[in-house]
Amino acid sequence: MKSVEVLTEQFRARGLKVTPQRQSIFRALSSSTVHPTAESVYAAVSVEMPTISLRTVYQTRNDLAAMGELSALDLGTGSTRFDPNLEPHHHLVCDDCGSIADLQAEFPGVAVPPGGEAEGFEVTATEIVFRGRCARCAGARPSPARPSHD
Ligand SMILES: [Zn+2]
Ligand SMILES: [Zn+2]
Repeated sequence: MKSVEVLTEQFRARGLKVTPQRQSIFRALSSSTVHPTAESVYAAVSVEMPTISLRTVYQTRNDLAAMGELSALDLGTGSTRFDPNLEPHHHLVCDDCGSIADLQAEFPGVAVPPGGEAEGFEVTATEIVFRGRCARCAGARPSPARPSHD
C-alpha cells in the first residue's frame, strides 16, 4: 500500500473526497500488519477522530481495494480482513484468537500435478494458509514439558 500522501493524490485524481478522517484510515491501514477488520480500524481511528463513522471506514476500504491498494482476505476467522501487503506472501492463522500474520517464505515444491483436476488450469498465484496457534496462544496453554518464562 502506498503512502498517505500518494493515496491522497490518487483519490483526488479520481474525484474522490479526501477528508482528515479518510487520511487517518489510510494511516491506520498502511502501517498495519495485523490484517485488521473494518471494525478494528474503526475502533483505532475513532480514538483520534471521534466523528468518524463505520460507514466511512467501509467506503474508504472499498475504494482502496478497488484501486488495488489493499486485498480483502477471508481466512475463515469470521470476518473479512484487510491486507495492505501487496507482495506475494503466505499467512499464519491462529485458530484460537483469529490473529493473522504474514509469512515470507518460498515453497518451491508446491505445484499442482499435471493432468487430472488441474488439467488446463493456469496458476497465477499460490497462497498457503498455515492454521494453528500463535505464539501467544500456544504460550498461554499450560505445557509442563516446557520451562516457563516471563
Ligand atoms: Zn492466537
Ligand atoms: Zn498478509
